[in-house]
Amino acid sequence: SYIALAETIWRASADLGYPGGGGGTCLWEAFPEVAVVGGQSSGKSSVLESMVGLDILPRGRGMVTRRPLVVQLRKTDAGQAHHAEFLHAPERKFTNWAAVRKEIQDETDRMTGESKQISNVPIHLTIYSPNVVNLTLIDLPGLAKVAVEGQPDTIVEDIENMVCSYVEKPNCIILAILPADQDIATSDAIKLAREVDPSGDRTFGVLTKLDLMDKGTNALEVLEGRSYRLQHPWVGIVNRSQADINRNVDMIAARRKEREYFETSPEYGHLASKMGSEYLAKLLSQHLETVIRQQIPSIIISIDKKIDELNAELGHIGRPIAVDSELGTILELCRAFDRVFTEHLEGG
Ligand code: GDP
Ligand code: MG
Repeated sequence: SYIALAETIWRASADLGYPGGGGGTCLWEAFPEVAVVGGQSSGKSSVLESMVGLDILPRGRGMVTRRPLVVQLRKTDAGQAHHAEFLHAPERKFTNWAAVRKEIQDETDRMTGESKQISNVPIHLTIYSPNVVNLTLIDLPGLAKVAVEGQPDTIVEDIENMVCSYVEKPNCIILAILPADQDIATSDAIKLAREVDPSGDRTFGVLTKLDLMDKGTNALEVLEGRSYRLQHPWVGIVNRSQADINRNVDMIAARRKEREYFETSPEYGHLASKMGSEYLAKLLSQHLETVIRQQIPSIIISIDKKIDELNAELGHIGRPIAVDSELGTILELCRAFDRVFTEHLEGG
């Protein structure tokens, strides 16, 4: 599975000092990241958060996300309690998600003032939990149409450039978020995604707020791929409404409600098994696995190189090396990773 593979690779890169190969690029940099692109209040933070399954992001009306937020998920051993750390406050350990959300907001305000300004300076958050996969998620401010009172005239362009700087990287998986209750004929999110990912290999279209569409209208044109053709299928989503957020409806209840929505929907019932947050998470996970599998051959090559180097070094020493010596351990590790990767590759 993706999870097992990813873990092996993370361990390998940490233990071996990134066997990702030449040119100074280490394996970590090639590792997939997931970023959200969309208009203001389209549901970006809500979607990202439900991909993690943790209530960690501030959501709400207006311009809530005003700085890029880079969330590193780090899987810990089973049974360990989860906690979170911010790069700007390394001495504080957060164990409560509400406090994490508040700190994101406070830290946003510290940089931007409580204005509607945005800032390019990212907030870095690391979440340690046994229930996550090793992955980086990026929550970004929404694309704006026009500057509002108190914002510089260049804000539309500024945001677009900022978003682009994250999603143009080839290892970035893009969730293009469209709210179904707005005019979907002209989507800046899709336009931007097309610019940086013309083949559509790493773009997933997500249609939110299906529950808020006017009666008598539906989003089948988009969901069935007739409005915007993308490489991957569109996924419709029903996130928590503002009322749900105000009432502290938790993630599990929200997912149950979403599932019920699709199963009982006269319009989307026939698509129910391919809709919703859980299905999107599954699609993403499958995609991540494919991406990582594609990297395995080059990882094997660099590990083989490392083994050769180590063998050469051992040759110089001219005597058998103790398995528990540092060099012996590294060599053993290399061989073990080589076996694991080769097996994964042969396993299809
Ligand atoms: P962002 O600005 O794109 O990050 O959007 P948020 O995730 O902060 O959501 C903006 C607002 O829209 C919040 O009040 C959410 O509760 C609401 N919202 C998001 N998705 C949905 C949805 O699918 N259905 C409903 N009813 N409300 C939603
Ligand atoms: Mg947001």
